[in-house]
Amino acid sequence: MTSHRIAVLPGDGIGPEVMKEAVKVLELLKKLDPSLKIEFDTFDWSSEYYLRHGKMMPEDALDTLKEYDAILFGAIGDKRVPDDVTVWELIMPIRKKFKQYINLRPVKLLKGVSCRFTDEDIDFVIVRENAEGEYSNSGGRLYQGLDQEIAVQNTIITRTGTEKAARFAFEYAKKHGKGTVTSATKSNAIIHSMKLWDEAVREVGQKFQAINLQSYYIDALAAYFVSKPEEFEVVVASNLFGDILSDLGSAVVGGLGLSPSANLNPEGEFPSMFEPVHGSAPDIAGKGIANPIAQIWSAALMLEHLGRKDLAAVIMESIEQVLVQKEVQTPDLGGNATTSEMGSAIRDAIQQLLLVKEGR
Ligand code: NAD
Ligand code: MN
Repeated sequence: MTSHRIAVLPGDGIGPEVMKEAVKVLELLKKLDPSLKIEFDTFDWSSEYYLRHGKMMPEDALDTLKEYDAILFGAIGDKRVPDDVTVWELIMPIRKKFKQYINLRPVKLLKGVSCRFTDEDIDFVIVRENAEGEYSNSGGRLYQGLDQEIAVQNTIITRTGTEKAARFAFEYAKKHGKGTVTSATKSNAIIHSMKLWDEAVREVGQKFQAINLQSYYIDALAAYFVSKPEEFEVVVASNLFGDILSDLGSAVVGGLGLSPSANLNPEGEFPSMFEPVHGSAPDIAGKGIANPIAQIWSAALMLEHLGRKDLAAVIMESIEQVLVQKEVQTPDLGGNATTSEMGSAIRDAIQQLLLVKEGR
């Protein structure tokens, strides 16, 4: 079996704290299952790096990363560096260069976690368009500082880009036996870009006769995320709408400490990147109390992407066991366990599970 090469970018704040636990999980799996061939290289590209070198990463960083099978990312963000610098000089170049045009975010209520809004099961994914849309650097400001000052921020919606996101959503639905794709729109008010979005999604949907397409305005959809989250199966959204819905979805199923994501290059031409939805959480950084589950789950998504669905399932079962037992809970879950205690509890569960599976 070929070996998988992983680039690890812990980043800032709680990034390195939660990454440490995720890497330990992968190391343990590697030890327990010799068929998992995986090698890591860690890169310290972060705000700290920026303060020393005046840039977030070296000139040849993207060439370096290109050689890897996947990137495991922590989080970035530091009060000493403007947020637009960390985002546009590190995350965006990676997403763009490696054509990671899909951001996949599971919204799943894990066993042992309760939802304030429903007693039913919640298990859906958000397919966020990750390459264009509202997050563009096209536009500008005029008459700065004057009363007449104006800012123009262009949204770039392309037919091809929207079709690719929609196709991913419908194919995901087909592959996972889901019956409905929900599209987030606002074509009643944003009449140029969102009408093109609607058309492109509808046209792709027509090729998937077995799957129903429903379209909701983003404001109503946000309310439905809270009032009937159990109804969704696959939600497809533009970059900004998908970003907002992801944090909302995350809050519905237990918070940012429990929310992973995958930045996918579906063609596999370039490495995909796996990262928690959360940021560097400066308010709790350095205290050792961040919940590492979002990062560990992101590592599970990475294993699944690399063809090890079996081991991803072992990680998820172990996380759920720990959550059901409720003996080890970080503060965001209402307990007082540390990041490393949570990490070890999950690793203990993995060890148990794999030993049982092997009948030892
Ligand atoms: P954040 O996700 O860092 O934090 C929001 C809240 O959630 C905070 O109260 C935080 O303590 C809590 N939280 C987040 N992750 C947690 C975890 N694993 N366990 C327990 N609690 C957790 O978002 P923010 O405060 O808006 O942003 C902070 C910094 O992170 C900013 O600089 C921002 O630009 C950056 N950011 C980076 C990314 C990324 O790296 N992809 C994503 C979002 C925000
Ligand atoms: Mn976000």
